Amino acid sequence: MIEKLVTSSLKMGVIAGGQLGKMLIQEASKWDITTYVLDPDEGCAARNVTSVYIQGDFTDFETVYEFGKLVDILTYELENINIEALQKLKSEGYKIVPDPNILALIQDKGLQKEFYAKHDLPTSPFICCADEEEIGEAIQSGKLAYPFVQKLRKGGYDGHGVSLIHNNDVTLLEGSSMIEEKVDIDKEIAVIAARNSDGEVRCFPAVEMTFNDQTNLVEEIFCPANITLEQAKTAETLSKDIIEKLDMVGLLAIEFFIDKQGQILINEVAPRPHNSGHHTIDSVVTSQLEQLLRAILDLPLGSTELTSASVMLNLLGEPGYEGQVYYEGFADCLAIEGVKIHLYGKKSTRPFRKMGHVTVLSDSVDGALKKANKVKNKLKVKSWEK
Ligand code: ADP
Repeated sequence: MIEKLVTSSLKMGVIAGGQLGKMLIQEASKWDITTYVLDPDEGCAARNVTSVYIQGDFTDFETVYEFGKLVDILTYELENINIEALQKLKSEGYKIVPDPNILALIQDKGLQKEFYAKHDLPTSPFICCADEEEIGEAIQSGKLAYPFVQKLRKGGYDGHGVSLIHNNDVTLLEGSSMIEEKVDIDKEIAVIAARNSDGEVRCFPAVEMTFNDQTNLVEEIFCPANITLEQAKTAETLSKDIIEKLDMVGLLAIEFFIDKQGQILINEVAPRPHNSGHHTIDSVVTSQLEQLLRAILDLPLGSTELTSASVMLNLLGEPGYEGQVYYEGFADCLAIEGVKIHLYGKKSTRPFRKMGHVTVLSDSVDGALKKANKVKNKLKVKSWEK
């Protein structure tokens, strides 16, 4: 255990200050930890809750290196960070959790898939191609057939950098890619696993995600997922297996596909708190943020038992509105029992920007879904000017 924790002089650095950073810092303040945030945006979500804010670019070597030297322990809430700086800090004895090697592997969708293949973990068949030309050759030689999914190896998020290629009329993405077979998806689920330095592992119950047909963004995330007991067990066993085989300390969010045959396939993982774990703040004994702190500070992990069924909705900027934000229907929604509104504190909205989330609690997922529909109709993220 980190001794400084009990004297409250522990300095924890977080790269960066988005909503996940903000929530982690709010949790850390309960244990009186001094927090440092690195983020390029002065108006970032974590700005008002962190002890120290440093403005800077987390993809820049010097900036990350100098930031890391300010703190006793460094963690992160996104993947797109300068790895070389983290590696140098590590080589000089600084504590970075999860380990930079894990981040290097996960940052690259090609390396990630090779890891699954090497360890016999179930995932869809794939190949890696350096450019369009190589993709063309793979099609010519019969190594690749339409339809397939092209994913840029690095830098993608929320569906950016992912493209479904039905036929040769679809323009390919530019850049080094991982190409995988199109899965006949029945459901998409996610499990968050935590592991501490003693090797203790705990998993949160699986959540199920639904997506908007038009925007392809997450529509709602509910827990427990509507899957069989056997599928839930398989997802948990696989999650434990992955975090152990990675030999990582920290939090790992694992996204799975369940195909039409009921088979569970690993889609991708993220070594940090995750959108699919927002509900844990309101509906699980230990939140994903507290669990991450426990894991990285070498503390015993907390209970992941559900205290309620839940539905989580992302609060996205309404199309057609841009500028200083206001939340229409806020009071009306709070009048619905079990509605928990989390606003990230971003000052201006734009179409589909993640401005907050709502967790709806009820006795059952069905009950929570009904209330969530009311919330969807009432709560709108708008701006004063159109
Ligand atoms: P991101 O990292 O941007 O979230 P994902 O790899 O999760 O990217 O892909 C985004 C979405 O695209 C998934 O949630 C899924 O709906 C769809 N998708 C991704 N890979 C496949 C695949 N192999 N087959 C079918 N659909 C896929």
